[in-house]
Amino acid sequence: MLKGKSAVVTGSTSGIGLGVAKALAGAGVNVTINGFGDKAAIETERAGLEKFGVKAAYSAADMTKPDDIAGMIRTAEKTFGSVDILVNNAGIQHVAPIEEFPIDKWNQIIAINLVAAFHTIRAAVPGMKARKWGRIINTASAHSLVASPFKAAYVTAKHGLTGLTKTVALELATFGVTVNCISPGYVWTPLVEKQIPDTMKARGMTEEQVKNDVLLAAQPTKQFVTIDQVASLALYLCGDEAAQITGANLSIDGGWTAQ
Ligand code: NAD
Repeated sequence: MLKGKSAVVTGSTSGIGLGVAKALAGAGVNVTINGFGDKAAIETERAGLEKFGVKAAYSAADMTKPDDIAGMIRTAEKTFGSVDILVNNAGIQHVAPIEEFPIDKWNQIIAINLVAAFHTIRAAVPGMKARKWGRIINTASAHSLVASPFKAAYVTAKHGLTGLTKTVALELATFGVTVNCISPGYVWTPLVEKQIPDTMKARGMTEEQVKNDVLLAAQPTKQFVTIDQVASLALYLCGDEAAQITGANLSIDGGWTAQ
């Protein structure tokens, strides 16, 4: 059912985004990947997607730059004929007490984790409306529902993303376009791995203590969510079975937000 459709997945050169891109390619979807990283490694990932028998492109668009974002959607539409599936997934984190939170980090996190989704959606929606089919999936977080200290910008951006999701879902409800958030708990990716040294320093803990007593402390199952589990949920949301799921914020967090 998804074969021949085309997707843009932001922030898909690593982690969850790359996992979602692979799942979509596996279902026959042409994919534009996006994000930063080593050029050769990105080319290897792009070429790897084509082994699923689909076409894959790479966009270097910077999610802090509205013109880059509009250009990425335009190019994807030209290359593949449409953007049917949009996954807003690019995200960064910074951990600091509010009074020391660097202003540039605040601005960057709000831009990448929240404002970029406004720009991608704004650019992709006219085509989806005209074709009367679309799937917009925003990678939010357990932090779209609950807070943790020292993550002011991230928690603010992710809460904002759920508001954007609900609003656009209502606007597009009669156009065959669904708009949802996926809200993972801790998934073992480079984003999580990078937080460990700062948290070790801030709390005077070892790596194992940070993993078990800080990260997984919030997750009742005491296990990290896997990239494949998140990617499977995203793929499900793209199917016909999920046509009546819209405006939702779906938790995949080992019970974190049940507490
Ligand atoms: P990651 O660091 O592996 O991937 C982030 C991606 O975003 C990378 O491809 C990176 O290059 C890209 N990126 C960063 N800045 C960018 C910019 N300015 N323009 C374009 N691309 C940019 O992280 P991840 O853990 O896979 O996170 C993906 C998403 O999942 C994020 O939105 C994150 O907030 C969310 N999330 C992650 C977890 C987790 O535990 N890992 C939990 C909940 C939500």
